[in-house]
Amino acid sequence: MKFHVITLFPDSLDSYLDTSIIGRAIKAKKISVKTYNPYDFGVGKWKKTDDRPYGGGPGQVQYALPILKAVEHIKKLNAKRSTLNAKIIVFSPSGKKFTNALARKWAKEGRDLILISGRYEGIDARVKKILKADEYSIGDYVLTGGELPSMVVIDAVSRQIPGVLGKFESVEENRVSSSEVYTRPEILVYRGKSYKVPKVLLSGNHKKIGEWRKNK
Ligand code: SAH
Repeated sequence: MKFHVITLFPDSLDSYLDTSIIGRAIKAKKISVKTYNPYDFGVGKWKKTDDRPYGGGPGQVQYALPILKAVEHIKKLNAKRSTLNAKIIVFSPSGKKFTNALARKWAKEGRDLILISGRYEGIDARVKKILKADEYSIGDYVLTGGELPSMVVIDAVSRQIPGVLGKFESVEENRVSSSEVYTRPEILVYRGKSYKVPKVLLSGNHKKIGEWRKNK
C-alpha cells in the first residue's frame, strides 16, 4: 500500500519510518511512504507557501495552490497505476475522529492514501473542497502540524496490512489482547517493595488466561 505525505517538513518523518515494524514493512515493500513538499511548488521567486489569514488574526495560512500542485504531481507520477482512486485526507483538530475501525477499512481497501499535513493556522479551506478530501482529527488536542497525524495514520493502517506484523505480533482481531502485560522477572523488587505478576498468567491454563485478558 502506498502513502503519499504532503508536508513542509518531510525530514520530521524519517526516523520513525526507519524504525522497527514500519521500517521493516517498507524494506519488505509491503508499504511505501513518499513525501512531497509544497515548497517545491511555492509561489514566486521565494517559493512562498503561506500568507496572512483573510479576516485578520494571528499566524499564517498555507496557500492552496502549492498543495493542489503537489497532489497533481503525485497523480502524474502514478498515472500508470490505478491511483486516480487515491483517498485524499486533510488533517485538522476539528475533523472526524480517526479510529482503528477506519485503519482496518483503509488497509482492506488498499487504495493509495494522500495525507495532507498542515502547519501554522492550517491550510486554505478551498483545498478540501476542490479535492473533495475528507478531514480527520487524531484526537481532541491541537498539535503544531499534521506530520504526527500522518504518521499515526500510516502506523495504524500499516499494522492492519497482512504480513506487516510478524509471527510474534498480531492484530487484536485475531487474538485476545490486553493492555495489561507482564514479562520477566516474576517478582519485581523495586525500592524495597515486591511487585508480582498475576498468578493466572503463570498457570499455563490458556482458557483462564484468555478470560483474564478479556476482562482487562
Ligand atoms: N487553528 C487551527 C489549528 C491549526 S494546527 C484550527 O483551529 O483548526 C496546524 C495543523 O496541525 C493543522 O492544519 C493540522 O494539519 C494539524 N493538526 C493539529 N492538531 C491536529 C489533530 N488533533 N488532528 C489532526 N491534525 C491536527
